[in-house]
Amino acid sequence: MAEDGIILAGRGLTKRFGGLVAVRDVNLEVQRGEILGLIGPNGAGKSTLFRLIAGIMKPSEGSVAFNGRDISGLRSSAICRRGVVATHQIVRPFRALSVLDNVMVGAFYGRTPRPSRSRARDIAFEMLEFCGLAERAGSPARSLTLSGQKRLEIARALATSPEILLLDEVLAGLNPTETDRTLELVRAINARGITIVIVEHNLRAIRGACSRLAVLDEGRKIAEGSPDDVLADPKVVTAYLGTAHA
Ligand code: ADP
Ligand code: MG
Repeated sequence: MAEDGIILAGRGLTKRFGGLVAVRDVNLEVQRGEILGLIGPNGAGKSTLFRLIAGIMKPSEGSVAFNGRDISGLRSSAICRRGVVATHQIVRPFRALSVLDNVMVGAFYGRTPRPSRSRARDIAFEMLEFCGLAERAGSPARSLTLSGQKRLEIARALATSPEILLLDEVLAGLNPTETDRTLELVRAINARGITIVIVEHNLRAIRGACSRLAVLDEGRKIAEGSPDDVLADPKVVTAYLGTAHA
């Protein structure tokens, strides 16, 4: 049964790499329609948690429910077809393919069942327009700036027609103008009814964009709540300052 208002729920998620526990017993609930910020120091387990949710890696323990149904154990392609998609922290477009072709790949793997080539092209083009990349449609992906490649990654993810989009550091490396532009894009995506979880280091940006924050530190969720409360939480401040953990 779908719980009211909860689109995605991770329960007891744990991921071990040999002796290292990258994600420890994390419970995470995402409310339908929200922009949830996931923050925490480098190595806290944020990207790994995204990979567990999107099926890129299998959890050592725990499960993920999407719209009340267990999706853990499904392949990432099957999870994507249901409406859950993640962008990659390290963008890796098919560099020799055109910008349009890269986004068409997303359309072929998404929720629209077996789109024709022309339908996939239409979807891809619409997403490029939405992401401000339409005029670059014919250029090779490698010719884009970092900011352009990040927006390409977002467009590719959107072409799968997700219900929930996991954005991993899409603002990293962008200048202030590009940051604002990409944040506007994130809000516009959310305004289309797509739920967003965003991993971000820029706390000013995240504070303005997110309705709630969750904080990971050394694989554990250490805080969750409104941005103001979370950022004032001494545990969070300590984690960010990198001082010894009490
Ligand atoms: P974050 O995204 O919060 O910076 P990550 O999820 O990338 O953190 O990494 C969490 C921890 O797991 C780090 O110690 C990292 O080195 C480790 N880790 C991540 N991916 C792997 C992997 N594929 N194999 C081994 N260790 C990994
Ligand atoms: Mg990361």
